Amino acid sequence: MIRVRAGAATDVGRVRSINQDCLLVTDTLWAVADGMGGHAAGDVAARVAVDTLQERFDSGGGSSGLVSAIRAANSAVFERARADAGLRGMGTTLTVVADVSADGGGDELVVANVGDSRAYILQNHELSQLTADHSLVEELVRAGELTPREAAGHPQRHIVTRALGIDPDIEVDTWTLAPHPGDRFLVCSDGLSNEVDDDGLTRVLRDEPDAQAAADRLIEMARSHGGTDNITAIVLDVLGVDAGAAASPGAADGDGGPSDASPPTEAFAAPVQPGVAPAVGGPAVDPPAVDPPTLLTPAVDAPPVAPARGPVPAPRVDDLIAPAPGPAPAAATRQRSRRFTFRVALFLIALLVVIGGAAAAVVWYARNSYFVGLQSGQLVIFQGRPGGLLGLNPTPVQYTGVTTSQVPPTSVTDLRKGMAESSRTTARHYVCNLVSEYNQAQAAQGGTTAPMPAWCPVVSGP
Ligand code: MG
Repeated sequence: MIRVRAGAATDVGRVRSINQDCLLVTDTLWAVADGMGGHAAGDVAARVAVDTLQERFDSGGGSSGLVSAIRAANSAVFERARADAGLRGMGTTLTVVADVSADGGGDELVVANVGDSRAYILQNHELSQLTADHSLVEELVRAGELTPREAAGHPQRHIVTRALGIDPDIEVDTWTLAPHPGDRFLVCSDGLSNEVDDDGLTRVLRDEPDAQAAADRLIEMARSHGGTDNITAIVLDVLGVDAGAAASPGAADGDGGPSDASPPTEAFAAPVQPGVAPAVGGPAVDPPAVDPPTLLTPAVDAPPVAPARGPVPAPRVDDLIAPAPGPAPAAATRQRSRRFTFRVALFLIALLVVIGGAAAAVVWYARNSYFVGLQSGQLVIFQGRPGGLLGLNPTPVQYTGVTTSQVPPTSVTDLRKGMAESSRTTARHYVCNLVSEYNQAQAAQGGTTAPMPAWCPVVSGP
């Protein structure tokens, strides 16, 4: 089992009047949810997600068990929003570090993420971001449309592209880690990561040995940098790893080891404050339709995102990858070697070439396709295929500023499905034509026309 000590703090910040972040700290679960939605809906979304996660999580269920619990949390938020008109459109991020080592299941931690709350790891004094944000600007950065510097100050950096409660199903990214004593994790909402850069986070996490004091200092730093959003931080120190030991519920403090330092083992969450506030992080957008996770999704133990810095030894990247179950016996390995003939090698090479070629063709096809779809009622040009292709999800490459009320109503059904176009230019022409068609109909009826996007070709007068 894994012995840890956690410190946690949450704060409404200096601008918002209500805290829509929610955190969870138990013996085996450490989670941050950042709710979004009008009025108090964001609170409800975050609270429902965290409560359901805690209720459904089984520390012996491994990575897939954690994903099931998060999917149950998504369903709970979705159903709650559907049942209550006052909560329509609410959603929440959810970032979790979970100990799945119970019942002799090994010594693994699993990190799971939906949205733009983050998990980091500090190893050898170096900070690495474990999760990849599901946010508009980060997807534009990944598509090469924005630089990281442009993303940092981007006015739409709060818009998330994936959140719990928006769709009946949800795709969850997971990473499996083998923790070591001395590892320190940070789970936080964007109210911290948007205000404090990596250097600031590293400084506090490296210099403050006490987990609770570190969490408190991070909150204070975000407040001093503006505190424009709710701020939440969980700092998790790995004290020891008893590989192979079967854990029993409630036995965390039973060996007199460092865990006797009384980590906050009871579950607690940020208090829900009454009141009305603008949505945290802006309105949730309708994420592109996604297929269930496939072999090509980041769920296959993606590496840390941030690069290592400085002259210290490189982080133990190999330790971040879950070990394959059990090495093969030496005798079996030798026997296989004798049978490894030239013909077999040739066959394997040919197979790899075919598989590689097929994979390259799929990637090329997905990356060289465009379509016009909808997000939150706005026409958006996506790169990729509607609904995704073998785990390659479409990426928004241009928000047109044109809404569904500015195009012929008959086109909306096609837009919902996604109108495939051969290039980004033809996709733009399609949008321009729709607005033009709408304006002609309006002009004929003496109605109000819609403004043409600036990038549409100018039609000269007669
Ligand atoms: Mg936030």
